[in-house]
Parts: sequence; C-alpha cells; structure tokens
Amino acid sequence: MICFFIIIGCTPQSQVEEDNWCNQALRAQFSSLEEVKTNSNWFKVYVVGEGVFAIAEPYNFQEIISYLILGSERALLFDTGMGMSSIATLAKEITDLPITVLNSHTHYDHIGGNYEFDNVLAMNTDFTLDRAENGLPHEVMKQEVTSGAICLEGLPAFDTTSYHSRPFEIAALIADGSTIELGNRMLEVIAVPGHTPDAIALLDKENGYLWTGDTFYEAPIWLFDSVTDLDNYEQSIRKLADLSAGLQKVFPAHNTPVAHPIRLTELVNAFGEIMDGTKQPLEEEGSEHVDEVALYYEFEHFSFFIRKDVLQLKGVID
Ligand SMILES: [Zn+2]
Repeated sequence: MICFFIIIGCTPQSQVEEDNWCNQALRAQFSSLEEVKTNSNWFKVYVVGEGVFAIAEPYNFQEIISYLILGSERALLFDTGMGMSSIATLAKEITDLPITVLNSHTHYDHIGGNYEFDNVLAMNTDFTLDRAENGLPHEVMKQEVTSGAICLEGLPAFDTTSYHSRPFEIAALIADGSTIELGNRMLEVIAVPGHTPDAIALLDKENGYLWTGDTFYEAPIWLFDSVTDLDNYEQSIRKLADLSAGLQKVFPAHNTPVAHPIRLTELVNAFGEIMDGTKQPLEEEGSEHVDEVALYYEFEHFSFFIRKDVLQLKGVID
C-alpha cells in the first residue's frame, strides 16, 4: 500500500510496487470491457453501459475513473480526473455533443480538468466553493508527480514542477434531488455527504445505473480527511443501498469501473460491523504513516481506512 500523504485526503488505491506505474498490468476487469481507441497516451476509455464511457487514468496511483454519459442532446462528464492531460480534448474525441461537467465531490483527484469547461455544475457547500475559487497549490499536489506515484512516459509535455489543482468557474449550483436532462436520459443528483460535504451520487433510474464517486469503490475507501463525517457517511450509504434493488450497474470513481449493486448492501453491513465494534481492524496493514492516524478494516470486496481519533470519539475504539 502506497501512501504519500494523508492529511488532506489523498486516495491511494493500489498495491503495486513503487516505480511500477509504466509497466503494471491493467486491472483484470478492463480486459472484459470494450475499449474505445483514442489518441490519448494517458487516458484509457471503455464502454461500460448504454451511452456510458469510463475514462480511466491507470498510470497514476490514484487510478481515477471519470465518466462521460451521453444523451441525445447533451453529454455529462462526471468528474474530470487529475488534470495531468486534457480530458476536454479526449471527451471531444468521443462526442460532438455539448458537455456539462459535474463532480462526484471536489477532492483534487476528481476536478483536475474542470478549468477546461465553461459549464460546470456544483454543490453549494463551502468546501466546493473554496476548491472552485482557490484550487490547490503545487506544494499540496507535488506528491502526485513523484516517480512512485505516476508513469510520466505517457505525458511528454507535462510539467511536473508547476502541477497544481486549478480553480474553475461554476456555471450553476445544484442540490440534492436536482435533475439533469441530457435528452432521452435524465440523471438525478443524490447528496451523499460523508466522504466530503459535497459528495454526490448520480442516478439514471431508467437504465438502473448509479455513479457512486468515492462513497463506494472496490478498494480501500478513505474516511479520514478532516472534512469526512462518519455519521453522514453511514446515512448516505444507507440511502444508496435502498436504491440497489432497482440497479443494474454501479460505477465507482477509482480502480475498476463496474461493480455489482449488491456491494451497496455489503457496504452498509460492513460499515455497521465497524461501528458496532464487531469488526476488528488489521494492525499490520497500511503504511506506518497511515497507522499513526487511521485504522484499516478489510472486507472481501473493499476495505476502509478510518481516522483513529474519530473512532475514539464515537467510542468504537479505546
Ligand atoms: Zn478520489
């Protein structure tokens, strides 16, 4: 497990060795998906549903996945990745439709390309507004471009010395229950605060698709940012699990793009076991740095890193 820093909520996902991001094999699930060839050396694009493209960045330890969702009149880009290569250029290769951007939340690994678009929707939280106005400086972002974090061979023009999270313009604010009409496809915003205050899920009820952002993915789920709220998180994952009976596919924001809806119920059960003390953390997992701050709880298809001090406050641990 690699972790470069944890204070502002990084999301290291993988267990590959350092300096291995150029030659690591793609995660097995990708080989079962239809790949869309593009001109990009950085992004990998896959068809994951009807008019739904997963845009993966597998050569960086974050293993971010953004999604381009097509309607008959507009497209929605759900997250814009690390901002290391132009996701606007890539998206225009895939569709001629006008593109609206919406973020699953505004941790920097999901907003990197927002600045390239003039139609960005956003939640009305202080966290979101601050990220839009100020971005994040190179000092905070520099660990993303170390040799152990990224394969730079696919990014010949990328300047690692100035890499930062750029501010972006918000075109309109959205809220829980907002709907986005793309033409023959309506998406509903579901507020799922917890991982961050502005975390949302996106529901395509007709097709049974749910995008979960970082609220759920099949890897270590990080719940130790200072803005993470475990009570809100628990309520939010219950809300998503309640939808699972009507779902065909779940599309998370890291590692692998397609998950079975049953995972949402497993997520609620697993988190409940942690909170009621029946699930014990694995002492030996995680880096030393993580162990100072967080505990690691492992389940079959996913795991959690959770802040020790918050668990103590809640009486889960001594
Ligand atoms: Zn993330």
